[in-house]
Amino acid sequence: MTTCTLLASISIAFPRPGQTLPFVEKTYVNGAVPHGTTNLVVQGRPVEVYKTGGWVTMVDVSEGENEIEVSANGETTNYVIRVEHKPKPRLDKDGNPIVVPEKKYEKLPYAKDEARPHPFGKSPSEMTIVVDPGHGGEKDTGAVSPHGFFEKEANLLLSLEVKKALEALGYNVVMTRTDDRPLVLLDRPRDATRMGADAFVSIHHNAPMFSTDPRTVRYTAVYKWNDLGARLAAAISASMGKALEGDIPNNGVMHANFAVTRNPEIPSCLVETDFITTPEGELAIWNHARRRRIAEAIAEGIDNWRRSKE
Ligand SMILES: [Zn+2]
Repeated sequence: MTTCTLLASISIAFPRPGQTLPFVEKTYVNGAVPHGTTNLVVQGRPVEVYKTGGWVTMVDVSEGENEIEVSANGETTNYVIRVEHKPKPRLDKDGNPIVVPEKKYEKLPYAKDEARPHPFGKSPSEMTIVVDPGHGGEKDTGAVSPHGFFEKEANLLLSLEVKKALEALGYNVVMTRTDDRPLVLLDRPRDATRMGADAFVSIHHNAPMFSTDPRTVRYTAVYKWNDLGARLAAAISASMGKALEGDIPNNGVMHANFAVTRNPEIPSCLVETDFITTPEGELAIWNHARRRRIAEAIAEGIDNWRRSKE
């Protein structure tokens, strides 16, 4: 339930209306109020408002429905946060906890086991890079910034810029989407695999776990699944680290079991550019010059990878 006046000035972007969070004891909440607001109070505690009007804070929640009171400028909004019930430990007939075997992550079903040869000696015009703007469509928005800007939009804007930067270097670029549409996760690398692309790069913006304070985490990182993707990821990470030096920390290359990177055939990686859940991170993604700098760094990383001898 949300109560607001006609001139509502408090907006809450995360958790999204109707969203149910997996069981947590604390979650972050972000939203926006008019510029210059200094009296924002969430769940009885004053909250700092950034110069854009964006804010983020942690709130205590429990299983079921939680009513969160948000007030500023004489307006109060009661916002409901739904939290799933704590999963009960599963026990066998003797009352011992059932140990669930660790999940095995399978490679993309349509990818061959054999890696494509490194493109050393090929010119950019002989190569095709697939750029995948993460998320898309009504339901899969990805993370959300305090003003309600979706990760899927940030990913598309940056991916289009990466396309431009790669084309300026002479590469052929194929995008998995160029507008806001839903894509099946496993379909994203399918065309890249079918056409024998030289590399697959998925572009994302990050969000912390719900129970982690977004103000405590902000970095750029490139994720890989296998050694083939690791070399590409390392080259992109190095040039991104340089481009963002003094701006945000570079966490380097990290391992992850993302479906789109589980490709033994085509070098694949996933770029988590920045966190958009804080007001600072949100402001950064709106900065066009910065976006172009990141895109050029990603393209340069891919080009360095092409020229690197294994
Ligand atoms: Zn994402």
